[in-house]
Amino acid sequence: MSEASMPLAIPAPVAALFPPDEERLRIGEALLRELLASERRIAQGPVTPTLDLQQLQRELTDFDFERPRPLEPLLRWTLAQLEQGLTHLTHPRYFGLFNPAPAFPAQLADQIAASFNPQLASIATSPAAVAIEAHVIAALARRAGLPAASRGHFTTSGSEANATALICALTRAEPRFGSEGVRAFRGAPLVYVSQDAQPGWFKVAHQCGIGRQALRLIATDGRGCLDADQLDRQLARDLADGARPVMIAATAGTTGAGMIDPLQRCAQLALQHGIWYHVDAAWAGALLCSARLRALLGGIEQADSLTIDAHKWFAATMGCGMFLTAHAAVAAEAFRVTADFMQSSSETLDPYLTTLQWSRRFMGLRLFLSLSAAGWQGYARHVERAVTLIEELARRLADRGWTVRNVPRAAVLCVAPPSGSRPVRDIVQRVLRSGTAWVAATRFEGEDAVRICATHGQSAEQDLAALIGVLEQAARTGEMPAPA
Ligand SMILES: *Cc1c(COP(=O)(O)O)cnc(C)c1O
Repeated sequence: MSEASMPLAIPAPVAALFPPDEERLRIGEALLRELLASERRIAQGPVTPTLDLQQLQRELTDFDFERPRPLEPLLRWTLAQLEQGLTHLTHPRYFGLFNPAPAFPAQLADQIAASFNPQLASIATSPAAVAIEAHVIAALARRAGLPAASRGHFTTSGSEANATALICALTRAEPRFGSEGVRAFRGAPLVYVSQDAQPGWFKVAHQCGIGRQALRLIATDGRGCLDADQLDRQLARDLADGARPVMIAATAGTTGAGMIDPLQRCAQLALQHGIWYHVDAAWAGALLCSARLRALLGGIEQADSLTIDAHKWFAATMGCGMFLTAHAAVAAEAFRVTADFMQSSSETLDPYLTTLQWSRRFMGLRLFLSLSAAGWQGYARHVERAVTLIEELARRLADRGWTVRNVPRAAVLCVAPPSGSRPVRDIVQRVLRSGTAWVAATRFEGEDAVRICATHGQSAEQDLAALIGVLEQAARTGEMPAPA
């Protein structure tokens, strides 16, 4: 045999990346124990970060990636940084933005997705995963009362779902939009949202090429909801000016106060003018689970499209939104593509043909497992519990002289302190510095308010009591006790 034809020995796999099974099992079990211990410590400690950021940045300069490091100390180092260096959404006194303490089945789903790492671009490669996601989406669409032929998909976020809605609206409004872009419109395309809509809509308008000025911010009605009469008048003015309204996006659960826009009237106005009706129910969409509370979303069934974030009130882990639409054909037109390397090309089955993403993580398993394990009933109890908790908090604070600013139907409370207290923004700063609880400052109908939202499914009586205590202390003009 000549030297040239000697078979090459195939190098061994990189063990740091692909260790043997016994090592994976050992490290995985140790990590699980460490994570549980960490979670227990977090619940006993401050909600807010205590990390010395400069110290971390100095330590990070040692990670020059020249010299490999053993994995186990690396994992312990990482947990220590996160334990000290995060606002803890998993803390029962995080009364925060719409970020959940994740449900256990959703956490397991993440592990499963990470293990199989299926590619959900196509039904041909991942039939089981694609079918499971489609099933959950169909169940949500039915629950919302959308027409039987409605479809949709999981997104990384509510922002992606909202961008998807605008692309669909533009595609339906102007058949040449796909080929010529916004130049195809004769008048400037406009989108209507309430002034309290999520500010990500500005980015969506920018991304989709209609420009940030194309967002018409409609005034609220004094109670934090879009004023439909103002919307009616603004539409008439814009049409008279030769502009081209393409979408009304009502909000179900405003970021500041959890308010729900008048969904029926927005639907009527959209229908009257033949424009796309979107409901951004990123937060409050979960009310659909409750037979008692779902009436708050009356009119949602008339939407051309819906955004619901599973990573908010459904308590999925981060990066799990949903887009639902009554017009599957429009989404198929908006995201069509041909690729001869793909094994299948069915616009009713293949996510890469109807969505913004191509490579796609198995996001929907989180809601599938959580919803299957708890049922609609379990989720109904989860959302009703949060609403009850916030209503109770509103009552107790009102008894102590605080002013409740909003009607807290969707588990978000806006309150102002008794007169003679410190300003709202000082109060919030002092609460955060104490580490006892996490709340936000917001503006509600032109005035500052403390914003408190129940996002943790296990916040309990002692957490409410601690929150009220720290709010009262922070509102008084004296010194705060030392941080927890
Ligand atoms: C959270 C939220 C968004 C943005 O969604 P992300 O998942 O954070 O991208 C949009 N609209 C509303 C009403 C929201 O609550």
